[in-house]
Amino acid sequence: MNGDCIFCKIIKGDIPSKKIYEDDEVIVFNDIHPLAPVHFMLVPKLHMESLANCSAEHQALLGKMLLLAPKLAAEQGLQGFRTMINTGREGGQEVFHLHVHVFGGGSSLPKT
Ligand code: 5GP
Ligand code: ZN
Repeated sequence: MNGDCIFCKIIKGDIPSKKIYEDDEVIVFNDIHPLAPVHFMLVPKLHMESLANCSAEHQALLGKMLLLAPKLAAEQGLQGFRTMINTGREGGQEVFHLHVHVFGGGSSLPKT
């Protein structure tokens, strides 16, 4: 838990969010500024800054989040989706608490 971290505040319930899933290790909520008709983020409850700060001890948690993504995407009605993990300022990360974006529901996702 990091007192200055916006996602830690959401996990604590101090900041409201549109939660779509929660267990003891992971919370999933909609992005406040959605970039697609469906746009949610999988967030570990453990405060870790980014993917670059993860190590072998986080392997199970990272795997769990990735396996949750297709389940929750299907629950949200998506036939397919895109995941994104911005890492570090140069990687476009703005909130320094690891999160996996899931986007879908639009026909306008750019080809990469
Ligand atoms: P990043 O650029 O770090 O990968 O993405 C951070 C994301 O968090 C952004 O898409 C932004 O819209 C979202 N975000 C920032 N503050 C809040 C908030 O208070 N609530 C929610 N639900 N999303 C937030
Ligand atoms: Zn945090």
